[in-house]
Amino acid sequence: MAGSSSGRKKPNVLVTGTPGTGKTTTSSFLAEATQLRHVNVGDLVRDKNLHDGWDEQFACHVINEDLVCDELEDMMEEGGNIVDYHGCDFFPERWFDRVVVLQTENSVLYDRLSKRGYTGAKLTNNIECEIFQVLLEEAKDSYPEDIVVALRSDTIDDINRNVATLTDWVRNWCPKPE
Ligand code: ADP
Ligand code: MN
Repeated sequence: MAGSSSGRKKPNVLVTGTPGTGKTTTSSFLAEATQLRHVNVGDLVRDKNLHDGWDEQFACHVINEDLVCDELEDMMEEGGNIVDYHGCDFFPERWFDRVVVLQTENSVLYDRLSKRGYTGAKLTNNIECEIFQVLLEEAKDSYPEDIVVALRSDTIDDINRNVATLTDWVRNWCPKPE
């Protein structure tokens, strides 16, 4: 829908960051605390075949961004979603009221991704992605500066604090005036 006012009664939050930074863990706790809907885009792509096949080199689906956006449009317009994905530049800017970029210290992230079974180029690429703050830059390039927030996600305490902070934010969010 065009126009400056979104018309949503509940906010949409994007939780992004390098794989392993805690997006899914944080999003599921936040969904529990706020009763917003957790949308795990990776799962959605797999379950609804919103991809153009399998990338052998990176061992992941080649996401079809148009199909994903079409699939999510109605839900996003309605509001009340926590979108969990390791990319953010292809979603419409108007969808989100808050964009959270999770960040993790390199050695901590290295251990998490190794535990997840990542090796070789896949492991190195993701660590470099974190070192160069690729997702933070992507978020800043794609959304208004005042809705983007970077949060540290090294420890369980960090997760608890981030969930508490974001829960407060969701509870205090007000719909935009028409
Ligand atoms: P993502 O969805 O960003 O890939 P996950 O939420 O799946 O990340 O987390 C990856 C792994 O790291 C999980 O085993 C999770 O328990 C652990 N983890 C994530 N964030 C933290 C954190 N802040 N402190 C401790 N462990 C974490
Ligand atoms: Mn995840």
